[in-house]
Amino acid sequence: MSSLSKSLDDIKIEDVLEKVRTYVEDEEQIKVIEKAYEFANLKHKGQFRKSGEAFICHPLNVALILTTIYADYETISAGLMHDVLEDCDCTPEEMEEEFGPTITKLVKGVTKLTNINFSTENEYLIDYYKKIIVGMSEDVRVIIIKLCDRLHNMRTLWAIPEDRQKIKAHESLDIFAPIAHHLGIHKIKSELEDLSLRYLKPEVFYDIAEKLNKTKIERDRIVYDMQNEITELLNEHHIPHEIKGRSKSIYSIYNKLDKGKKFSDIYDLLALRVLVNTEQECYLALGLIHSVFRPLPKRFKDYVAMPKPNMYQSLHTTVFGIEGYLFEIQIRTYDIDEVAENGIAAHWSYKENKGSNSNANLTSTTEQKLQFFKSIIDLSQEKMSNEDFVNSVKDEVLNNNIYCFTPKGDVIELPRGATPLDFAYKIHTKVGETTVGAIVNNNIVPLDYELQDNDIVKINTNKSSTPSKEWINMAKCSTTKNKIKAFFTKNERDIYIERGKYTLEKELRKRKLVFSEFLTDENIKKICDEIHADDLDEIYLSIGNGKATVNGVINVIHREEDTTPKIVKFSPKSIDADIIVSGIDKVKVNLANCCNPVYGDEIIGYITKGNGISVHRINCHNLENVDERTVDVLWNTNTNKRYLTCLLIYINDSENHMLDIVQSISMMNVSVDGIQVLGRGDKSTYELTCYVTGLDQLEKLIVNIEKHRYVEKVERAMR
Ligand code: MN
Repeated sequence: MSSLSKSLDDIKIEDVLEKVRTYVEDEEQIKVIEKAYEFANLKHKGQFRKSGEAFICHPLNVALILTTIYADYETISAGLMHDVLEDCDCTPEEMEEEFGPTITKLVKGVTKLTNINFSTENEYLIDYYKKIIVGMSEDVRVIIIKLCDRLHNMRTLWAIPEDRQKIKAHESLDIFAPIAHHLGIHKIKSELEDLSLRYLKPEVFYDIAEKLNKTKIERDRIVYDMQNEITELLNEHHIPHEIKGRSKSIYSIYNKLDKGKKFSDIYDLLALRVLVNTEQECYLALGLIHSVFRPLPKRFKDYVAMPKPNMYQSLHTTVFGIEGYLFEIQIRTYDIDEVAENGIAAHWSYKENKGSNSNANLTSTTEQKLQFFKSIIDLSQEKMSNEDFVNSVKDEVLNNNIYCFTPKGDVIELPRGATPLDFAYKIHTKVGETTVGAIVNNNIVPLDYELQDNDIVKINTNKSSTPSKEWINMAKCSTTKNKIKAFFTKNERDIYIERGKYTLEKELRKRKLVFSEFLTDENIKKICDEIHADDLDEIYLSIGNGKATVNGVINVIHREEDTTPKIVKFSPKSIDADIIVSGIDKVKVNLANCCNPVYGDEIIGYITKGNGISVHRINCHNLENVDERTVDVLWNTNTNKRYLTCLLIYINDSENHMLDIVQSISMMNVSVDGIQVLGRGDKSTYELTCYVTGLDQLEKLIVNIEKHRYVEKVERAMR
């Protein structure tokens, strides 16, 4: 629990230097650190933190945390000066003159991450992720300084007001802990989680801490006895090793309790870590331990042969240990232990201290580690709303993911809930598009099967096979969904072009015009100008998808031969472009304002007297007795219109929640047209009118509004 104590307010630069000297030998480098301290100390003179101590304590503590993950001298120097550009009278030029471009760039990077202006939570997150991507692509050390900065701020969180504490704690849990996890910096990840829990759910936190405390002596004794048994066993077989007792973090216990486990189940699970010299000895030790202590079935995991994408390598097993207690045992090499604890930071310290050829395995895994940033960048390049972007980053990149394997043993990281389709598209789009089936652990599974951690997945493909539209619902990742959608948009375009060309040829034949004579370059240009197309393909496309009529197009050139006076163009606002009426080429179409259909609703057309076709939702009560005057209508899939919809929101108390509701839905990229109160009293009803892109968004909107505890129900208005 020492990590949760207050920061040391009497920390000195000597404390930092002492730590640095344990792994940095170059005196020149140490001098730079000293100079950075002098510089920061001077600049921060007279400034104090909210906790009352001199400001310089903060950068000193950040530097000290950096030494625990063996940061290099440039990172530590930048850590000491990380708030100088932000809070003091100092220009980047001045700093660069004193410390050169590299250190200054690091400080500038951290400063950029601090300067965030945000209006809504989502925008803030988006901005944050984008800045992290930028910061990351410049230098990973920027993020590492930021993590240490955040950790020290969390340790001193008691000094700020309670509402700010909760915001910071949330941020740490949602953004910083996952980043630390993906960079493999376990220490920082788990301390950030514990500190966040302490401020977000103090009752739970202290309850677990107290229970741990009460059982500590007994647990320590059992761990000690088990440790002796294993030591004896390994010594007998001459395997040099070291055993560490391992305390589970409060947050990880909280997580297990949250998943329905009982506290007694958890503290029965005692934890040990065995460190040995070589990978081979890892397996030897495992075999010996299993020969004496019966392993729990299905709990063995081999991350040595198949490392996790964040570089984690370890053997995991759970055994029935002494006195019938369950023990979680991790076995790994000393080298790997460094990496598992410090992640990417351990990697740079290896490179500096032991020469670059010390461990080729570590070098190649750094590449893998950056995978997580690559995933964010990939997502940021997909066409999706800001909201979807943030949700995808949260669900698909930052959340605890599952790891599946190709039959060759390559690791594919996927979000929980992913299906074989996501797996296939992750390997390659071409593999995804030609998928015909999937085999998981030697069993044939449907394409919407939910993959589990450690599944071995074989994708069967067939060159001539193509995606099906149902796949969009079967996939979990938005990148997969977008790739499937892209396939259809491209293909639908081809189909429309084909259809348009065929229609034009047929009509020209009917009018006894020669195709090649009609489509001269000059005529093509005239038609393009008239219907706002770019080239011949787009002319076909416009005919094919109904934006222009074939007679209209021919009339641009041969006007006199037809009775239709003018080309029919549909402006983008026109409803006609959104709805296709079966069997009728051009007709006036209105969306009925009794039931306000939106894109995706099941619809039906009603032939009015003299006012074209009015389109209703299929269950509109105004259409109950009129089936002989109806006509089939369809949504045109190529629409990007927004549709007016009207919702009735039933509120179960008498307070005014309008602002709250409007705020919560404006984050969804829905434009609100108006909101009014229909009835007041103990309960009230709001009538909300807004514009949505279609049924999908509308359904999400309703779910979102229903989340408010004061909302009894939400329904679509029908007059
Ligand atoms: Mn700071």
